[in-house]
Amino acid sequence: MSSRLRELMGVYADEAERCIRCGFCNSVCPTTLSSIGHIPSRTSRGRLVLLQSSLENGTPYPFTPRFKELIDLCIGCQRCVSVCPARIPIPTVMSSYRRAYTVAVGGKSLSRGEWVVANYEPVVKYLSRTPAPLRRILLGKPLLWLFKRVGDFADDAPLPIPEGGTLDKHFKNSTPRPGYQTLAYFSDTYARFVKPSIGVSARMLLRTAEIELVYPRQYDSGVIFWELGLWDKVEKLAVRNVESLSEEVEKGRRILCTSPASTLMLREVYPKLLDSEKSRAVSDAVVDINELINSLVESGRLSANLSGLSFVLHSTCLSQYLRLTSQISSSFQKLGAHVGGVVSECCGSGGLWGLFRKNRELSIEIGGKLLRRLGSSGTVLSYSETCVQQIISLTKGSMTVQLPHEALYNWVRMAATQYGAEHISQAT
Ligand code: SF4
Ligand code: SF4
Repeated sequence: MSSRLRELMGVYADEAERCIRCGFCNSVCPTTLSSIGHIPSRTSRGRLVLLQSSLENGTPYPFTPRFKELIDLCIGCQRCVSVCPARIPIPTVMSSYRRAYTVAVGGKSLSRGEWVVANYEPVVKYLSRTPAPLRRILLGKPLLWLFKRVGDFADDAPLPIPEGGTLDKHFKNSTPRPGYQTLAYFSDTYARFVKPSIGVSARMLLRTAEIELVYPRQYDSGVIFWELGLWDKVEKLAVRNVESLSEEVEKGRRILCTSPASTLMLREVYPKLLDSEKSRAVSDAVVDINELINSLVESGRLSANLSGLSFVLHSTCLSQYLRLTSQISSSFQKLGAHVGGVVSECCGSGGLWGLFRKNRELSIEIGGKLLRRLGSSGTVLSYSETCVQQIISLTKGSMTVQLPHEALYNWVRMAATQYGAEHISQAT
């Protein structure tokens, strides 16, 4: 049986076997640093030991729900990657195990909740296009309660609720503007169908720096499939996205992402999966919105007077992994805003992991440490859509929580109104 797991995990079986069991990963792993962390099999190191044991001698048998439950305690935050002395891509190894599990177990591999999550894109796409009165009924308390029951979501889970409208509509007929730099925008599903205002604010903000966004043909990034181990589905999406985005790259355009998960998928996961020239070209062309803003502020192309504004910066797991925290902080400081603190605890959402009933208690426990650092009021900037939702939910709306570029756009607009900067009003 060990050979079956080895065969299905491929090179990631070798990666798991390189683990020297030092336990450094435990020191940063949010689920390990919780009340379950005293149980060895529920730690980051313990998951590697389990896999090694299964690979070496077939015990414990790896294709059981119980085994998978232990692996599923890895929420893919990437915090361990930088501390592992063996440089093991730990979350990818876990995703690779999940892939092996789905292949070995077949149709029964996904739980009901995971199946619902895997079909997230068509659901939010439908809701985003539904007229407001019907959407209100569909998202009203009774049907939402039923949906949470069916999907095994916790009653208090902050589900992504579409605000109405789509980015496709907003960017319909978008073309380059004469005299402006052109970037191709890869929005991903959340901004496209759940919160189009993320893309609208990025577009308006960048116009103040004479950058215009075009919106190429695109599909979901596949990050949820990646988390669930459905690599075949990720690969299909990656092929289609790379095909479309590489046409933009050929025109000399960079690919803008406004979600850290999209930045991660396009920059790291797609080239790993596809191993093609085109995927590497797209990867090289990716620029995260926070990297772009930082370079625009540094060069003076984006300016505003934000003195008097203050916030706490939540350094999210993916901001840390993508080395964005210092860039976000530096941009705002250069514009005169006061960074009242940088808080780096995990919020416990783990993408959609923390929404499930079975994970909610642990998710809240993990997020509780962050809340104690944040306090109970004020403004928090957090670069991850699901972290924003989680913090709003855990603080019961007492804090203003925004993505950095959304806050920047609002503040730049406010400053423009105050100081009468012409180029801002032109842009909006
Ligand atoms: S990716 Fe995050 S949750 Fe998974 S083992 Fe590493 S630190 Fe722990
Ligand atoms: S830090 Fe790396 S080598 Fe050490 S226990 Fe974790 S996975 Fe293994």
